[in-house]
Amino acid sequence: MTETVREPVTLTPVLSKHWNEAESWTLESYERNGGYQALRKALAMTPEDVVGAVKDSGLRGRGGAGFPTGLKWSFLPKPDGNPRYLVINADESEPGTCKDIPLMMATPQYLIEGAIITCHAIRAERAFIYLRGEVVHVYRRLLQAVEEARAAGYLGENVLGSGQNIDIVVHAGAGAYICGEETALLDSLEGRRGQPRLKPPFPAVAGLYARPTVVNNVESIASVPSVIDNGSSWFSGLGTAKSAGFGFFSLSGHVKRPGQYEAPLGITLRELIDMAGGMREGHELKFWTPGGSSTPMFTAEHLDVPLDFESTGAAGSMLGTRALQIFDETVCVVRAVLRWTEFYAHESCGKCTPCREGTYWLVQVLRQLENGQGQPSDLDRLLDICDNILGRSFCALGDGATSPISSSVQHFRDEYLRHLDEGGCPFDPVKSTLFA
Ligand code: NAD
Ligand code: SF4
Repeated sequence: MTETVREPVTLTPVLSKHWNEAESWTLESYERNGGYQALRKALAMTPEDVVGAVKDSGLRGRGGAGFPTGLKWSFLPKPDGNPRYLVINADESEPGTCKDIPLMMATPQYLIEGAIITCHAIRAERAFIYLRGEVVHVYRRLLQAVEEARAAGYLGENVLGSGQNIDIVVHAGAGAYICGEETALLDSLEGRRGQPRLKPPFPAVAGLYARPTVVNNVESIASVPSVIDNGSSWFSGLGTAKSAGFGFFSLSGHVKRPGQYEAPLGITLRELIDMAGGMREGHELKFWTPGGSSTPMFTAEHLDVPLDFESTGAAGSMLGTRALQIFDETVCVVRAVLRWTEFYAHESCGKCTPCREGTYWLVQVLRQLENGQGQPSDLDRLLDICDNILGRSFCALGDGATSPISSSVQHFRDEYLRHLDEGGCPFDPVKSTLFA
């Protein structure tokens, strides 16, 4: 059997290409680097052709689920003269996920241009950017970017003489993780308490104010101008056959150079760690998350899993948000899992019993175990509670909360038991800090 030799993977800076330039966030800098050429091209195309180009590119949702972007746009019913909306999910809050905020700070015009092109494609006159409430600096930056785009004629009435009216509203939420779930986000945007709605109907059919609505993540929309500018086949030629294009891989934790690495999908953690200068000196990889804490954790055995939707799934996890949280051997996996579980219990919206009650009990059992005060049977109890949450919760938050627990018990059962044998945590928390 012949072994397929893989081409070495290199970074593909597209959205981050100009991040190091002075005042990269201004419209002037964006236009100097070719910004808004894609909008001109898109306005000369029919909306159907723009949707077709995005479909052909193979762009899949960058918010975590990977749903094909052009296909989602095509689900909107035919225009009937009533409003339809684009809503951009900028409520980035999955633990470890930190790509949309730097993008919006460094080059917000990518998002604005992508939003205008998308409005043209889906025949919407209004887009909303729903931003998490805590990031006031990003809110200010977006307001300024929208204002600059409006003053230049890219937004407002008769965009670039096309006869179309398109505008953007920037809305800051109040810092609830659940408002990143698309239907809770829509409720929050309508002024209600953010809690998930029953799906179907999907937002494409009945979304904001019960009107057809496309909800897309920041990075998905910001990628659209590059697809229009360079062509669908340029985009689909990057990445893998089913996971096309490039994306941000956000490395945090015990690597020498944490940060955003924009690379084709299908790159491996081994390659990314090399690009990040390696693990911190004298330490080795213990466990990591491929896409935030709600994706089942991987270990050093998974260093060569291609980071695309299919391969991460086949290896027992998910690509998710490409938030690669990297932990070395000094970290107590039980403590890390407890921290994440406390987060999910705190952020559970309380609408459904399995998640509301289940995450509470997961925290109680994990705390006992971490303190070395539990019983060996607590491990089965943990897995049993996970079983009663997974697939029985109203939205993905409940399911996601079980991932770090079940995967850590699968890979590190002995470490849980060591806490019981030693009557407490065997790890020194000081050694696991980044500065130790
Ligand atoms: P999902 O698979 O239910 O839906 C994905 C998208 O496809 C949605 O927009 C949905 O409306 C659309 N869709 C799916 N089927 C459809 C259909 N038949 N018709 C029309 N539209 C359809 O996933 P989800 O619950 O929206 O998101 C879960 C993901 O969110 C997780 O994978 C996780 O990685 C990610 N996540 C991200 C963050 C973050 O901070 N970025 C936070 C938490 C979770
Ligand atoms: Fe709310 Fe959790 Fe149920 Fe989602 S799974 S609806 S967050 S209680």
